[in-house]
Amino acid sequence: MSIAASDAVRPPIVAAGDAGSGIFAYCSQQYRVVFGAGTAARLGEETERLGIKRALVLTTPEQQDLGRRLGAGLGDRLAGLFAGARMHTPVEVTNAALRIVESHDIDGLVAIGGGSTVGLGKALSLRTGLPHIAMPTTYAGSEMTPILGETTNGIKTTQQSQDLVPDTVIYDVDLTVSLPPHVSAASGLNAIAHAVEALYAPDANPLTSLMAEDGIAALARALPRIMDAPADAGARRDALYGAWLCGVCLGAVGMSLHHKLCHVLGGMFNLPHAETHAIVLPHAAAYNAAAAPDAMTRVARALRTSDTPQGLFDLARRLGLPRRLADIGMPEDGIARAAEMAVRSPYANPRPVERVAIQDLIAAAWRGDAPAQH
Ligand code: NAD
Repeated sequence: MSIAASDAVRPPIVAAGDAGSGIFAYCSQQYRVVFGAGTAARLGEETERLGIKRALVLTTPEQQDLGRRLGAGLGDRLAGLFAGARMHTPVEVTNAALRIVESHDIDGLVAIGGGSTVGLGKALSLRTGLPHIAMPTTYAGSEMTPILGETTNGIKTTQQSQDLVPDTVIYDVDLTVSLPPHVSAASGLNAIAHAVEALYAPDANPLTSLMAEDGIAALARALPRIMDAPADAGARRDALYGAWLCGVCLGAVGMSLHHKLCHVLGGMFNLPHAETHAIVLPHAAAYNAAAAPDAMTRVARALRTSDTPQGLFDLARRLGLPRRLADIGMPEDGIARAAEMAVRSPYANPRPVERVAIQDLIAAAWRGDAPAQH
């Protein structure tokens, strides 16, 4: 068993940078990370550290057996299991869990699962102030961000607060081995997208950039090996480590064109989130390549390629991910509408966001072209 623990103490997130002057601000969040194979066995110790005596374990319905198994390790600190976590944190699910928290004298939360379960842990800890331990089992990275997206009557709203960051994150590599290879690949490329955009973020800073480059390198190394051998312990370790770093990037600096496009496309056409990221990323990188040369150099170095957009495209192909938006449910007549929407209130981006060029970008991603720099 190998363990690494880190504590980072910092005030609320305020990262501001000025690439021209070399001046930047870096603020970190406060959390404890325990990383390594077999670290789930430390759950009891970690709950004790936070003074939790009556923990509620949270999972999705699919992961309730895992929740039961790991919860048993808590002995008499386990008060119960709520296995109702769902995608996009529906408020009615949070309210149902809240009733259990209140009626069972719960004094701590243990979220075991992907972004959906961690989202429920965040929503509950925000409402109750209870300590929250997250045990991620995917590469989504939510546990590293001060962000929560919740849905009420199908409408999603997002909020940001330091109170959303889990107190402790236990990254047990063993819990990720069951994640199917194609889900791992899409989730991993989604994580890489956070780090690529962190490298040219308006508030990029040297520390986040170090994490971004290392995170991309670790995932790019690991994902092809996971496709070949899903239980490869070293590859799973690298991938989870990379996902951790990419999650920090997502929580630390602002995202740009790529995330705006995926948000628009996903929302308009109900496209699968991670696959949309995998298809759009090479094209978004190509769009920004000339305006963000330093970021491109760093991504290329991490991917061990000389051409960042092509390297991202090749990685997605190697992982067997879909290459065309047309193949994941986007209609051709949606291209112009999506471009129109994407240029409305755009996120900050290294290159100006222009409608005609964005329409060309979306059309290329719809057809599955190799990324072209204009
Ligand atoms: P998920 O948590 O919805 O999990 C998808 C499915 O995979 C579930 O059925 C789950 O039980 C199962 N699963 C998870 N880990 C598994 C494993 N190791 N083995 C087998 N099955 C496993 O998926 P996700 O992609 O991790 O999270 C998506 C959600 O997270 C979305 O709601 C998204 O908006 C949110 N998210 C939020 C942030 C943030 O910063 N707030 C960041 C990323 C994602």
